Amino acid sequence: MVNITLPDGSVKNFPGPVTGQQVAESIGAGLAKAALAVKVDGKQQDIYWPIDKDAHLQILTSKDEEGLDVMRHTLTAQVLARAVKELWPDAQLAIGPTIKDGFYYDIDMEHKLTPEDLPKIEKKMLEIIDRGQNVRREMWDKKEAEKYFKDFGNTYKADIIHRAPEGKISLYRQGEGDKHFMDLCFGPHIENTAKISKAFKLTKLAGAYWRGDSNNAQLQRIYGTMWANDKDLKAYLTRIEEAEKRDHRKLGVQLDLFHIQEEATGQVFWHDKGWTLYRLIENFIRDKIRREGYIEVKTPILVDKVLWEKSGHWEKFRENMFTVESEDKILAVKPMNCPCHVQIFNKKTVSYRDLPIRMSEFGSCFRNESDGSLHGIMRLRGFVQDDAHIFCMEDQINEEVTSFCELLKTTYKQLGFENIIVKFSTRPEKRAGSDATWDKAEAALADACKAAKLEYTINPGEGAFYGPKLEFTIKDSLEREWQCGTIQVDFVLPERLDANYIGADNQKHRPVMLHRAICGSLERFIGILIEHHGGAFPLWLAPVQVVLATIVDDAIDYAKQVKAELEKHGMRVELDLRGEQISYKVREHSHAKVPVIIALGKQEVEKRTVAIRRFGSQKQDFVALDEAIKQLSNESKVPN
Ligand code: ZN
Repeated sequence: MVNITLPDGSVKNFPGPVTGQQVAESIGAGLAKAALAVKVDGKQQDIYWPIDKDAHLQILTSKDEEGLDVMRHTLTAQVLARAVKELWPDAQLAIGPTIKDGFYYDIDMEHKLTPEDLPKIEKKMLEIIDRGQNVRREMWDKKEAEKYFKDFGNTYKADIIHRAPEGKISLYRQGEGDKHFMDLCFGPHIENTAKISKAFKLTKLAGAYWRGDSNNAQLQRIYGTMWANDKDLKAYLTRIEEAEKRDHRKLGVQLDLFHIQEEATGQVFWHDKGWTLYRLIENFIRDKIRREGYIEVKTPILVDKVLWEKSGHWEKFRENMFTVESEDKILAVKPMNCPCHVQIFNKKTVSYRDLPIRMSEFGSCFRNESDGSLHGIMRLRGFVQDDAHIFCMEDQINEEVTSFCELLKTTYKQLGFENIIVKFSTRPEKRAGSDATWDKAEAALADACKAAKLEYTINPGEGAFYGPKLEFTIKDSLEREWQCGTIQVDFVLPERLDANYIGADNQKHRPVMLHRAICGSLERFIGILIEHHGGAFPLWLAPVQVVLATIVDDAIDYAKQVKAELEKHGMRVELDLRGEQISYKVREHSHAKVPVIIALGKQEVEKRTVAIRRFGSQKQDFVALDEAIKQLSNESKVPN
């Protein structure tokens, strides 16, 4: 007898070993048809593989992310691979995993693939799906399997098998007889190619190295995406297209904001306009936190290894730290600001009456990220954190976290992000501090979320060893999620670096340290802002807010006067006095996404008016100069 427990808790009994397909059939014909694979006690398995003992079972369909993943896996490993092999018989198949929203396959072959080949491969893939052949798992001896692929001339699969631990090797056979296709894979796979969704598309080609090592052979990589239906596929392709248009690396050039070059990989050359945007964000945050009672400090970038040893970073974070040697010392470029802030805290005798001390820094940090992980200004080696550490007593944690949550919520909202997802990471197995202290800290974080009306999901056991944390993720205009803010309770660092305050009892006590950031990396946050707004910033954030474009030379003096007036009101204004056609000027500044273009002709000079044109609109508003100044300067006020 085999007892199968389903996700809703109900139990089904079978007289002997049973397959996932049989369980699905016992539930209903609809599910039997939709079933793609199963999870047995949390482990994915083929739908036809027998289950011979009591187990928890989940049936995967294309409605689950996991079911979709299994289908993508079969599409790449069985269908794409076979299609390439049939079109170019000399092709050696390397690996074909799934990735977020899709899959890829790495191939070694004589023919150099071009984008024109992709429709041809897609056609072959559809043909293979239509053949409707079974895909079945077989367990082979390791030696036999290695020999099989070697004889076949596939050195990559043979190499993978060669490196595998002793034991049986799992292979999948598609079809039978002479015309079968064999692949090395842990599975699971969809049991018949006819069950695979035809809503797929091969999206691009790239180069890749075998095992990611540039000393190895270069392979050709084919990327693709697949969805449960055409509607989902279309929505995905539209999203990708929109994301490409908004790519901050592209807009960074188009709007003349920044560039990155090989001689300083992982660091940003900020151009005038980009740096204006940067300082706007920095000052926006600075003014806000000053009003919240933060002090601002600046700490050194090169700090002796000795301090990093004390703080524990040398042991835990060493691989990510850049170091330099000077005379007989080893200095590390700081990867975080925390230990330096404790140095400032420790310089004075602090009384309990002084707490909390909220110490902020726009701290320059460097981390040795691998070349492959760098991405525009979103992932850098050198970046600035809007960092702060709050030194407080245990009974102040609650209030501090609550006011931080409020601050973070308004800041995001003012920057255009209303949708915040909060993850609450609780105590991990290995941790410092007593259970009583953890109880208090976790309760404080939960209370603070409630007070700030932020809903959260729990990441059990994902907290840092030094304390629990909240992580804040924003959703951008393309519904993409970006984790930015965080607040973490820390009982350990004050201990390691011997921070004290004098309590009401005149004794020394350890303060608690709260690490917190709103943006995280300012550079990355600006990258997110650029993509969120598609480069068309709201007036208060635009590096150039207004361009004054003359229609005739007679308007030059007037244009200069208008510029001076607007600048008196703190606005960022550029003149375009060139002898070009106004339509040409408008086109050019629209390309640079300037929010307001003011055209000045003869009539405007005579009447002391302006013609205002907003980005993205064809309409012109004719307004008296005084009125325009009032309107625009009001609109460009930094929110507070
Ligand atoms: Zn910190």
